[in-house]
Amino acid sequence: MKFGSFLFSPEKVEGFDFHVYRLKPETGVIGTPKEDMYNNIACFGDNVNAQKHPEWVAVSKDGPALRTNGKYNFRWDILCMTNPEYRAWILDFIENAAKVASGITLSSIHFADHGFCVCPRCVELWRQSGLNWVDWRVQTVTNFIREARIRVKKWGKPFLVGLLPDPVLSKERFGIDFDALAPYADAFIVPIFSKSYATAWHFETLARSFKHVLKKPVYINIYVYGPGDKPNEVPTVSELLKVSARVARTGVDGILFLAENAQRLIDFQKAAVQAEDILQEIADYGSEEFMKLIDRWRGIF
Ligand SMILES: [Zn+2]
Repeated sequence: MKFGSFLFSPEKVEGFDFHVYRLKPETGVIGTPKEDMYNNIACFGDNVNAQKHPEWVAVSKDGPALRTNGKYNFRWDILCMTNPEYRAWILDFIENAAKVASGITLSSIHFADHGFCVCPRCVELWRQSGLNWVDWRVQTVTNFIREARIRVKKWGKPFLVGLLPDPVLSKERFGIDFDALAPYADAFIVPIFSKSYATAWHFETLARSFKHVLKKPVYINIYVYGPGDKPNEVPTVSELLKVSARVARTGVDGILFLAENAQRLIDFQKAAVQAEDILQEIADYGSEEFMKLIDRWRGIF
């Protein structure tokens, strides 16, 4: 197993095997490509562009793909996938990052949800394709990932594809076909973000399901401390240790830990090695690799 950091700041944290910098998170705020780290790019989730170009936002019969749309669960605003101008821009952006970064991970690669996007351009492209609606959406997502891979592989870098935590309906909801994407992904990243992991069993079940269905290595992304969170809004150290140990025993290939910056993750590492009671409890979970990670952290702090 490999363990990685997943930060909104371009910093590395000791005690991890690889380091991901969120160069362009869904907030739409863009940083500078960072060398010697994986760079993460959210493709179609983009609050800044949604505000600047309201006509770029994906649409459905039940309203636009905006955070304000109560019929869906959007954590950010989402753009239409077939806008040629934005698509060309984001592919160039991915390539420019790939020149510098040690690898690229993409997030938000898909349609907003079921019902999206029915803008006149998408409907016309679907009609011309001769495919059914589900297959056309799959083709649109898969073609985007194939093109993105070409841009990244031009610079010889690893290419990781981020999914959403739905192991059953991703194809129908988002146009994400796991088998169609597998040839283009060096690995998949599945976020199971939550501000509480009180029921670790659910997250273990998700990790086990994804490991079963995905035909490339699987990394699970766990939420430690997001930007703007208050201490009472984030998972407890006990929850984080238990969910990590349970996910680690499912056979997945690695775990990433999301945090606002390096200090938030270091605070978690320190608290983790001090949580003797919890560590004793999880010692017999069958998560040797995760317990070895804790030993590594013990050597640092
Ligand atoms: Zn559209």
